[in-house]
Amino acid sequence: MNKISFIGLGNMGSPMASNLLKHKYDLKVFDINKNNYKPFKKTNAIIVEKKQELSGDKRIFISMLPDGESLKKLVLGKNGLLNNLKKNSIFIDCSSVDYNTTIIISEKMKKKGVHFLDSPVSGGISGAKNATLTIMVGGNKKAFDKSKILLNTLGKNVIYVGKSGTGQIVKACNNMMLGINMLGVCEAFLLAKKYKIDLKKFYDITSKSSGSSWAMNTHLPIEGIVKNSAANNNFKPGYAAKLILKDLQIAQDMAKHVNIKTLLGLNALKLYKKFCNLDKNNLDYSAIIKILS
Ligand code: NAD
Repeated sequence: MNKISFIGLGNMGSPMASNLLKHKYDLKVFDINKNNYKPFKKTNAIIVEKKQELSGDKRIFISMLPDGESLKKLVLGKNGLLNNLKKNSIFIDCSSVDYNTTIIISEKMKKKGVHFLDSPVSGGISGAKNATLTIMVGGNKKAFDKSKILLNTLGKNVIYVGKSGTGQIVKACNNMMLGINMLGVCEAFLLAKKYKIDLKKFYDITSKSSGSSWAMNTHLPIEGIVKNSAANNNFKPGYAAKLILKDLQIAQDMAKHVNIKTLLGLNALKLYKKFCNLDKNNLDYSAIIKILS
C-alpha cells in the first residue's frame, strides 16, 4: 500500500511527511493550520482542504497531532474520519497520546475493521528530519508487519511492543525520564555557573562523563554550545513545554492507576506546570532553566 494520508504538519509531522515524499509515497496532507502547507506547495503531495477528502480509497493514515483531544477531534464526531475509513485500512498514530484515548480510538476502529497502531516516536526534530526516530508500536502484529517498511522510512529503530496502548505506555515512561533528565541538566549547569566554571568546558567534560544524557547532548539549555539546540534560537521549540507537561501528566495518571509513586516525575510535572502557567507553554521545554536559577 503506497497511498498515505498524513495529518498534522507541525514541528515533527512536516519533516516526517517530507521523508515519505522522498521515498515516492503517494501522499495527501492535512493540517488545521493552513500555514503549515507551505513546505508542501511545490511538491507532489496533494494538499487537502477538508479532512473528509483524506479517505475515499484504501490507504494508510498517519497522524502526528499534539495530544489525545486533537486525535479525538480528528477521528470521532459528526465529520470524524472514522465514518470514512475503508475496511482493512491501517491508521498509525505517531502522536504522544494518553492510554485511555488510545484504547477508545483503537476499539472504535476495530469495530470498523480498521487496524489502529499506536506508534509514538522519540528523537526530536533532528530525528524526524534525518529519519532516525525510534518508533514504539502497539496494536495488531500483522498490521505492524505490513507497516514496517513504511515506518522504516521514518525511523531507525522501529520496535513492536505488544497489544494496543503499549507503545504509548513506553513513550510516557520515556518522556518522564526525559523531563527529569532535563531538570537535572539545568540544575547542574546552573550550579557550575555559580562556581564560575566555563560552561563550554563543563559541557565538553560532562557530555563525555557519567552525567551525560540525550537531553544534554541534543537540547542543552545553554546558548552557543550544542548545534541546533533551542537555546540558540530564543528557545523556539523544538519540543514545546506544553507537550512535555502533557506527557508528564500522562505518566502521573498511569502511576496513579497502578498505585505507585514516581516522586521525581511528580516534581517534574509540578515544575513544568508552574513554568507553563507563566505563559511559557510555547517555549521549548529546555527553557525551564529560566525558572530554576
Ligand atoms: P506541533 O504542535 O508542532 O504539531 C502538531 C500539528 O497538529 C500542528 O500543526 C496542528 O495544527 C496540527 N493539528 C492539531 N489538531 C489537528 C487536527 N484535529 N487535525 C489536523 N491537524 C491538527 O507538535 P509536534 O512538536 O510536531 O509534536 C507532535 C506530537 O509528537 C506530540 O504528541 C508530541 O508530544 C510528540 N513528539 C514531539 C517531539 C518534538 O520534539 N517536538 C518529539 C517526539 C514526540
